[in-house]
Amino acid sequence: MKPANTTMAALGTTVFEVMSRLAIEHGSINLGQGFPDEDGPADVRRVAADALMDGPNQYPPMAGLPELRRAIAAHARRFYGLDYDWENEIVVTSGATEALADCLLGLLDPGDEVVLLEPLYDSYPPIVERSGATPRYVSLSPPDWRLPVEALEAAFGPKTRMILLNTPMNPAAKAFRRDELEAVARLCVEHDAICLCDEVYEHLLFDGLRHIPIAGLPGMRERTLRIGSAGKIFSLTGWKVGWIEGPAELMGAVAKTHQFVTFTTAPNLQKAVAHGLGKEDGYFAGLAAALQAKRDRLSAGLDRAGFGVLPSEGTYFVSADVRPLGFDGGDEAFCRTITREAGVTAVPVSAFFRRGKVDHLARFCFCKRDATLDEASGRLRAYFGG
Ligand code: PMP
Ligand code: GLN
Repeated sequence: MKPANTTMAALGTTVFEVMSRLAIEHGSINLGQGFPDEDGPADVRRVAADALMDGPNQYPPMAGLPELRRAIAAHARRFYGLDYDWENEIVVTSGATEALADCLLGLLDPGDEVVLLEPLYDSYPPIVERSGATPRYVSLSPPDWRLPVEALEAAFGPKTRMILLNTPMNPAAKAFRRDELEAVARLCVEHDAICLCDEVYEHLLFDGLRHIPIAGLPGMRERTLRIGSAGKIFSLTGWKVGWIEGPAELMGAVAKTHQFVTFTTAPNLQKAVAHGLGKEDGYFAGLAAALQAKRDRLSAGLDRAGFGVLPSEGTYFVSADVRPLGFDGGDEAFCRTITREAGVTAVPVSAFFRRGKVDHLARFCFCKRDATLDEASGRLRAYFGG
């Protein structure tokens, strides 16, 4: 038999699935994979449930229900003053994961280079490689994960077609500052490169930080694709409803990719997300405030257990240095050990690196009930004798 595609056949199972399975096997508290343990707003779920019974239940338009595309355009205008034409500049996808694949497969050619900043979400490299393009990695370093501008400049060259940016960034929990985004924008303009910006955590920012979409910087609207996810905004990760906003010139090929990857997304969920995006400002602010309190709660618990807790400016993750606990066997072994022996699961930050050497950090997810966070902290403290 002929072998499978070399890029895909060589892949392991994603770290999120591996650690979640391990958590189930050991009955541990799963603070690994990122998902809330309480479902998002009842009114949003009610719209989905009613639409399931009342319809429509047949194929929606390929680019998404008009009411959802209008709501996505209104959301970008309301929060960032960005203007997108809902008919030609927005495509609804089955999650941000599909949106990323549509953009990468729709825009890249063999021979192109793509600048990837690590730590990174693990779907990026294989899809870049599958498109035939070559990743050029730039590593960020803890604890502040500042953009290394010189290394970034060195990664850009005549073959650079795209940079893939993620802000707020998973798992670094970092929000890129305006000066960092300006450096990225300058390089994109100089090299006529596309910026694919994964902004799924756009509403999960803490301590008064404001999300800055790079599409709003001078010269960037015409070369930026902005990706969003209802899973994060409404704490409904299993729904897998995402979207892409971008200039019509780039969206044509992206939409054609979407039409042959999934074609469309469940109409009842689209209707419900359209409703959700229209919620009052207080909903979005309340989500961030609630998560900020959970970040503080878990960070304090990890600190008491003896971890070196890193700052978390956004997302629903906090990373912690395991070396102060006397553990120097690497973060993957650490995460497996605490799953088995302390009854708490985290994911190793090294899984988000392809080139850089960071293997002393464990990433914990804090979008869980307070009692769950307290129990996890208590178990870790008991285990490490804090
Ligand atoms: N990008 C990042 C940075 C993520 O952390 C995730 C995962 N939750 C996704 C994309 C995928 O989002 P979705 O579940 O909407 O596919
Ligand atoms: N993005 C989520 C995380 O970082 C997980 C997504 C997934 O499981 N594919 O935990």
